Amino acid sequence: MTVETILPTPDVYSAKRILCVQPHYDDNDIAAAGVLKRLQQNGAEIFYLTVTNDLMGVIDHSLSPEAAAEALKRDQFTVGKIIGVKEQYWLGYPDAGKYDTFDVRRDVLKYIRLIRPDFVFTPDPWLTYEAHRDHIQTGLTTAEAVMFAGLTKIASSDPAVDSAYEGHDILGVAFYYTREPNTIADITSTWDDKIASVRCYQAQFEPDDMDMLVMALDMKSHQVAAGMDFEHSEPFKVLHPQSLHCGF
Ligand SMILES: [Zn+2]
Repeated sequence: MTVETILPTPDVYSAKRILCVQPHYDDNDIAAAGVLKRLQQNGAEIFYLTVTNDLMGVIDHSLSPEAAAEALKRDQFTVGKIIGVKEQYWLGYPDAGKYDTFDVRRDVLKYIRLIRPDFVFTPDPWLTYEAHRDHIQTGLTTAEAVMFAGLTKIASSDPAVDSAYEGHDILGVAFYYTREPNTIADITSTWDDKIASVRCYQAQFEPDDMDMLVMALDMKSHQVAAGMDFEHSEPFKVLHPQSLHCGF
């Protein structure tokens, strides 16, 4: 008997109710739209929670903050229709700004207790050479919130949600943007949907930069799938919540 026998890698393809917590409007789709679309076709319900307002990434500097926010949401709703996202939520923390990660954790706890997902997707906060603090903080606070979801003495930002919450099982966390994947998803059948969704993020990318991004995604997707019997892939580190503490 080994620890792996008790805590095997959770099967991400069994996900039926998925909360995807992203730092910026486009991260879930750049990293995971292929597998999310597959899971949605499989009957899963998908919810997006965006932590920052993403206003630093909007390329048209003539837009007011309100107009920029509208442009970002317009793109996100278009993508939501392609991928089949059931509901979108936003926390509005300042993009690349200063905010309290305990506040973010309370908010993520609220949505975990409200939505009761069986799988949670978020960036790998332990990605080596990740310099964007929003990505590290989102991944870390989300991992903590998953670990603490059942500890109701730890308050979320909504007492009404906490008092109605009766506990539930989270089967796994799928970290995207990872260098240490243990699950290589075959997204060949949904590759076109993924690229169509990424190309919707027009508020944040000049056309040339978008072409570069799509080319990089294509190369990376082939690279990760090397040696597999499929063409396009997305890599994930999928862990059981009990593996998020003390190295188990
Ligand atoms: Zn981002």
